[in-house]
Amino acid sequence: MAYLELHGLEVSFDGFKAVNGLDLAVERGELRCLLGANGAGKSTTLDLICGRTQPTGGRILLDGQDITRAPEYRRARHGVGRKFQVPSVFKELTVRENLEVAQSRHPGPARTIRLFPGLRLDRRIAEVLEIVELADELDTRAAFLSHGQTQWLEIAMLLVQDSALILMDEPTAGMTIQETGKTSRIFQRLRGRHTLIVVEHDMGFVREIAETITVLHQGRRLSEGSIRQVENDPKVREAYLGS
Ligand code: ADP
Ligand code: MG
Repeated sequence: MAYLELHGLEVSFDGFKAVNGLDLAVERGELRCLLGANGAGKSTTLDLICGRTQPTGGRILLDGQDITRAPEYRRARHGVGRKFQVPSVFKELTVRENLEVAQSRHPGPARTIRLFPGLRLDRRIAEVLEIVELADELDTRAAFLSHGQTQWLEIAMLLVQDSALILMDEPTAGMTIQETGKTSRIFQRLRGRHTLIVVEHDMGFVREIAETITVLHQGRRLSEGSIRQVENDPKVREAYLGS
C-alpha cells in the first residue's frame, strides 16, 4: 500500500466534474509532479487531498487510514501541509516570528540552541532556515523579502510544522531563473525526508526535480511515468496538440 492513495476520486461543481475518477498512488518520500493544461483539475486535486474541498465520490487513504471525510484541520494534524499560490505569511512579522507562529500551531518538543550569548533559537527553526537558505534573514520583516524569499519562507513554515506530506501549487510562478534554480536546490534537500506533490508548469524545473510525473486531463490521470515516458506518450501529445 502506498503512502497516499486516491481511488476513483470525484468532485462536481454544479454538475461539472472537475475531478472525474482520479486514481493516484504516491510513495513515502517521493516527489511527484502533477502536470496538465489549465482546468485539468490539478488545484482541485490538491484541495481534495488537504480537505479544503469535499469529494462527491471516491476515497482518499493516507498511511493506510481513510481520510476521505476527515476535516482539514485533522489532516493538517496528520501532517498534510498545503502551500497556496498566494503566500500566506504575516507581512508585519519577521522571518523568525513567522516560523515561531507556524510552529506553535503544531508544537513538537522544544529544543533550543544558542546562536551566541543571549540569542536562543529553536533547533528545528535553525535547521529549516538552512534548508531554505534564509538564515541571514532571521530578523527581516516578511514585507521586505523578495518574491522568491517569501515563497521559501512559506515552505519553511510547513517544514517547522513537520508536515509529512507537502502539497504545492506552482511554487515557481513569478520567480526569476535564479530563484527557480534555488527552489530546485531546496526541493533536492527535501527529497526523501518529506513526501511532496507539486503542481508545476515550468518544464525545466520539472526535469530537474521530478522522478515521476502524473499528467491530468479532464479530471483524470492521462499518463504517468518518467519525463521521457510522458513526453513520448501519444495520449499526452494528442491532448496537448490534438484539440
Ligand atoms: P487546474 O488547477 O488544473 O488549472 P482547477 O482544478 O483549478 O484546474 O479547475 C478544474 C476545473 O474545475 C476548471 O474548469 C474550473 O473552472 C473548475 N472549478 C474549480 N474550482 C471550482 C469551484 N469552486 N466552483 C466551480 N468550478 C470550479
Ligand atoms: Mg491550478
